[in-house]
Amino acid sequence: AAKKLGRNRWQFYESTMNDAALERLRIEGALRKALERGEFVLHYQPQLDLASGRIVGMEALLRWQHPELGTVPPQRFIGLAEETGLIVPIGAWVLHTACAQARAWHDIAEPGGFGPLRVAVNLSARQFAQPDLVESIAQVLADTGLPPACLDIELTESLFVDDVAQAVDTLHRLKALGVALSIDDFGTGYSSFSYLRTFPIDVLKIDRSFMADIASDADEAAIVISIIALAHNLKLRVIAEGVESAAQLEFLRAHGCDEMQGYHFSRPVPAEEFERIVRSGRTLAPAAVSAPELLC
Ligand code: C2E
Ligand code: MG
Ligand code: MG
Ligand code: MG
Repeated sequence: AAKKLGRNRWQFYESTMNDAALERLRIEGALRKALERGEFVLHYQPQLDLASGRIVGMEALLRWQHPELGTVPPQRFIGLAEETGLIVPIGAWVLHTACAQARAWHDIAEPGGFGPLRVAVNLSARQFAQPDLVESIAQVLADTGLPPACLDIELTESLFVDDVAQAVDTLHRLKALGVALSIDDFGTGYSSFSYLRTFPIDVLKIDRSFMADIASDADEAAIVISIIALAHNLKLRVIAEGVESAAQLEFLRAHGCDEMQGYHFSRPVPAEEFERIVRSGRTLAPAAVSAPELLC
């Protein structure tokens, strides 16, 4: 009996060891196949200029169209793609697809006569550390014909903590291509403000966690007002993300925020649907021009 129990124990131990490793291998294999089979898609979320109410760009957001699981959100697989290094080929596909799509949309003559739409692409730490990052982005721009100024590279503050000198060098080389650089999820990272002085950044994206109570909570409101002022004093563009209500929108307008994206206007949508929104000329109502006290 002791022998039998011992063997069962061993088998149990062995099988749990294998489970974790196997699970990772399974997911890695599945991600690799997903890339080969074309199961990744990009959804696009409109970014609007708050003063004019017009769509000025979109953020490309990755989804995995799994044959059995349906649409898998990035939070479920980006971490593993990052750990296994698969984020590098996946990210290359994202960049190429987003730039080609943005370029194609430049040819749509919309009723509102918007300028060329910009596209924002998220970059992971692993991608940012690739020695050939700048060359590969230059190649994508050349291949797709997208004007560099129409590409917005989104980075998070966490990318800057490891090797600051290296990060500054990469950012300057990216800047030299003519692309715009954004800090995503601004306000949630560990960074000090000092990098804003030395890094060639163009855009701050206020994290959506600050949006929730801006219209009702004085502290949240103060933080958002301060980030907008900080951005403008540094001559940066500022985008609010996660705008879900008219009250939040009006607050951001009243405090001079430049752009916004959020469910209030649109969720991230498939390319065909984004195209329909643009073609239909759908916009936000422009900011009210008359002072409220003159209305009554
Ligand atoms: P993120 O770059 O901060 O993207 C914004 C996220 O907020 C998106 O989630 C978007 O769907 C969501 N969102 C937008 N408006 C609202 C709103 O009004 N309310 C709420 N509650 N949420 C809103 P999503 O698409 O699930 O992406 C999550 C994160 O995954 C992204 O955060 C980004 O960090 C990462 N990610 C997405 N696509 C890529 C990619 O192609 N490459 C890399 N490296 N990361 C990606
Ligand atoms: Mg982003
Ligand atoms: Mg964000
Ligand atoms: Mg993020």
